Amino acid sequence: MPALDTYLAEKITSLEATSLKRSLYDTEHVDGAYVIRNGKRLLSFCSNDYLGLSHHPEVIRAAEKALKRYGMGAGASRLVTGNHPLYRQLEEKLASLKGTEAALVFGSGYLTNMGVIPALMGKDDLIITDKLAHSCILQGVKLSGATHKRYSHNSLDFLFNILKNNRNNYKNCLIVTESVFSMDGDMAPLDEITALSCEYDAWVMVDDAHGLGIVAPHPAVDIHMGTLSKAAGVYGGYVCGSRAMIDYLVNKAATAIYSTALPPSLLAAAHRALSIIETQPELGRKALENARLFTQLCGLPKAQSTIVPLLLGEASRALELSTQLENLGLLVTAIRPPTVPKGTARLRFTFSALHEKSEIEQLVSSLERLGCLGCLEPAHV
Ligand SMILES: *Cc1c(COP(=O)(O)O)cnc(C)c1O
Repeated sequence: MPALDTYLAEKITSLEATSLKRSLYDTEHVDGAYVIRNGKRLLSFCSNDYLGLSHHPEVIRAAEKALKRYGMGAGASRLVTGNHPLYRQLEEKLASLKGTEAALVFGSGYLTNMGVIPALMGKDDLIITDKLAHSCILQGVKLSGATHKRYSHNSLDFLFNILKNNRNNYKNCLIVTESVFSMDGDMAPLDEITALSCEYDAWVMVDDAHGLGIVAPHPAVDIHMGTLSKAAGVYGGYVCGSRAMIDYLVNKAATAIYSTALPPSLLAAAHRALSIIETQPELGRKALENARLFTQLCGLPKAQSTIVPLLLGEASRALELSTQLENLGLLVTAIRPPTVPKGTARLRFTFSALHEKSEIEQLVSSLERLGCLGCLEPAHV
């Protein structure tokens, strides 16, 4: 057996050889859509802070106020002494935004899916997911011990066949999809999925990580989950649904029960951010308009969300183009396998309410200059 470091060094070398090695680069977020990396100011098109709330003065003020009053850490899990009253205020706001009876906040979106799915589903059950489901949905499914079947991306025929051929062999059945797909930016056909779920006696769970603040929640969904770290600009995850479900999750969702509560300052900031989302829908509209300006200028199909991918195929090509854009002052991270399926490496552009029209024009003219408009394929059309 080789020494651990020798073993790992070999693994890293092989990642490098296939353009799949990942590294961390210090990136400071300063003003608006700009960041500083390697001492250079770059216009960023790869943040999920779609509404610019991470730097919103009211959000910062809410955090500061709570920080001074309550200190930094929560000190214990929510079930011990960590259940600060700010949680109730935040959960009531979430439930009202989603139109559900109740909500439960978790440490992150990732922890939410890893807690909720195994709490509700077990070995006699069937979970059906879209092929492009996010890593934390897959982790939750694995932990649950349920049988897992996947349908090709957004294929209702495929989903229908899985239900028709398998539903009767299991006790409970859960269909999990993203509302807006994180690496593709397209939307799930939720009307049709919820109709199938009624027909086949299945529950529907929607991961709305990239939908909150941008697209309206779907009323016929049983389980709404999402994150406070993207459009809300803060941190944490949540699930919204019936009172009975939330009461049950407080008893069974391990990632909520055995993990320390979130800092009170963060809860206050998230509550403030959600209030802004609620009262200023124009922010979400602006972000969406920016994405649509981009697709229009590039001659791509109209953006369905704030996320627009440009498929490049090979990981090396995505890295190369990302570096070229960085040299032109633009930050667009290359997305490579295993985040996306093999052969579908891409640049993933995200648009925010903070981008100016001129900045989007600058992005498009840079892509033109690099000769990559016209030869790029949008995903899933
Ligand atoms: C980002 C993301 C998550 C995880 O949320 P975090 O709060 O960042 O842990 C879950 N699901 C999807 C689809 C995501 O894009």
